[in-house]
Amino acid sequence: AFVVFEGGDGVGKSTQVDLLVRRLEAAGHEVVRTFEPGATRLGALLRGVLLHSDAGDVGARTEALLYAADKAEHLHEVVRPALARGAVVVCDRYVDSMVAYQGAGRVLDPVEVEGIARWATEDLRPDLTVLLDLAPEEGLRGLTDPDRLESAGLDLHARARAFFLALAERDPGRYLVLPARRSREVLAETVAVRVDALLS
Ligand code: C5P
Repeated sequence: AFVVFEGGDGVGKSTQVDLLVRRLEAAGHEVVRTFEPGATRLGALLRGVLLHSDAGDVGARTEALLYAADKAEHLHEVVRPALARGAVVVCDRYVDSMVAYQGAGRVLDPVEVEGIARWATEDLRPDLTVLLDLAPEEGLRGLTDPDRLESAGLDLHARARAFFLALAERDPGRYLVLPARRSREVLAETVAVRVDALLS
């Protein structure tokens, strides 16, 4: 099974990924915990370029293609092989993040961005996407070391949030949308119930 966590910066995705992974492992599942961008060797290089480099302000299409390259390699090296051997893959960000961020920049057409992301990932869709929803002012407040994008301005994050919600509304059966302000225990329990149903 393929479970993805999506949502803005600072909403607590990695905490929830941790809690779910621990729970699934304790139940005896083989679990692969992973993330985008940056989970492969090539991906780590691309992540460095995308988030921390002095490559300058690269064009929006260039940036989208680098994210797409990260995704293609991640699918090829990590996600597909893990699913093929029956592992549960739990991934921090996936296609929706690309649509939300590269689409929310407004320079690119989100429909086209989604097409590129789906091409890169062979249109492999998660069985479940958990969207942790939070106002960006609240999410960003908790971050101590904002990287390039996190400091890019609230309105971009507000647009990204709207994209995330719109993607979830389009395909509600595959999404669990949760208010990220709930306590981490309550969130984890709600996610666990849904994932258990998926795996049974
Ligand atoms: O989730 P993580 O903290 O690893 O994301 C790193 C940064 O990359 C975040 O600021 C996120 O907003 C940004 N990002 C992006 N486009 C994506 C995925 C992540 O701008 N497709």
